Amino acid sequence: MKIKSLFCLLSVLVLLGTGIPAIAEDEMEYEEEEGWLDLDEGTASETADEPAEEPADAGTTGIFTPSYGSEYTKDIGSSYWTTPMDISNEQAVWDMLMEPITVVDLGKIKGKSRSQLTKMQTYLYQEPDEKSKILGEVSNLSQGVRVIENLDNGWSLVECYSSSFFSKPATKTKAWNILVSGYIPTKYLKQVQPTSRLALVVDKLAQRLYVFQEGKMIATLLCSTGLVQWNGSKYQPYNETRSGEFLLINMTGQLTSDRLICSYAIRFNGGDEVHEVPHQENRDGSNNYKSTEPKLGTKCSHGCIRVQRLKTPDGINMAWIYNLVNSENLCGKVKVVIWEDWQGRQLPIPDPDTKLYYNPNGGSYYHSEDHCTNGKGITFTEFSYSQLDEEPYSHLEACPNCAPARRLKEIQEINELYAEGGDHEELLNSLRQDYYDYLKN
Ligand SMILES: [Zn+2]
Repeated sequence: MKIKSLFCLLSVLVLLGTGIPAIAEDEMEYEEEEGWLDLDEGTASETADEPAEEPADAGTTGIFTPSYGSEYTKDIGSSYWTTPMDISNEQAVWDMLMEPITVVDLGKIKGKSRSQLTKMQTYLYQEPDEKSKILGEVSNLSQGVRVIENLDNGWSLVECYSSSFFSKPATKTKAWNILVSGYIPTKYLKQVQPTSRLALVVDKLAQRLYVFQEGKMIATLLCSTGLVQWNGSKYQPYNETRSGEFLLINMTGQLTSDRLICSYAIRFNGGDEVHEVPHQENRDGSNNYKSTEPKLGTKCSHGCIRVQRLKTPDGINMAWIYNLVNSENLCGKVKVVIWEDWQGRQLPIPDPDTKLYYNPNGGSYYHSEDHCTNGKGITFTEFSYSQLDEEPYSHLEACPNCAPARRLKEIQEINELYAEGGDHEELLNSLRQDYYDYLKN
């Protein structure tokens, strides 16, 4: 198989005349959709490094918040940072999604188009001083920060997961998705009120994208976030999808990398994209999703968020999301929240009485809905989650349209991997050591 990589080059520009130290991303990472396929054979092939984990379904319990581990424990309203990562609490999640987001806005810069501005980043500093040590990167116009303190001297102390991307040695930090606090000029902070027409929650533990509209969660979609791996010549810690809260900022449309095509792409956080699960074109011109679609629900991208193409029973998929943002001109107003898969988080075990459905006449899937798109015209038979491992249900696979709960065994495997005291990010953590050494020097 081939694994090809386009590397995004980060060049650091000190923008003369503005005094804004910023990073321009010349080639942001449209790299991520490269070939898991043997292009000549057109059949699914395995990556060299299969996902170590198989993250699961539904919400989580417990007290984990996005600012878990922060030294700043003060509760600040119902913000993203202090709201528990629990999808079952629809009202709390909605309140969080509708909270204003504080983003970095470097302002107008001569010679830079809006699109170029959205690809820029700036820094978080150790002290309120641009000569002090750089602790992390934050993306212009999209990335939200948690404001901890506004100082009198024109600086603010903020916190976020560092948006460190791959770069040439010019990069200042290698804080790969590390929760970092640091100083930024207060004049670069701007509050934005997100729209109620659409809001998205991506849970890296569950590998699900939850779609919200007007106070309700209206869909659960399968997704894939980034997988840290060895690409054949080097490690790619920057594949780990950066957690945080963001605004969607650019209707990219379609990306092509090699012969893998990513449709309905919307950019956020510098160079990250949320888009339909990538496909290849068959010789007859039809779309081939065989290599990528079965991996939805597990980490496997190079940082972007791959989203389900198949429609839920209510007709929702990535195309639906894209078309809504486009037709209602919501770009710049849609909040996307990404929940970190902190070690110690656990997936909840579904209620044994949870209703499931299947087609007794040769169906191969179990469904969460009795009117699933995947079974039009078929009359499903109801059974319960507690029967799933018994006959005749034990051979059924989870429907890729309606994303039913995972099997108990899968949930237990994930929970074991994420159990307190373990280290599901062993590789990533080892690659973060450079950064920790840099902090000490
Ligand atoms: Zn279904």
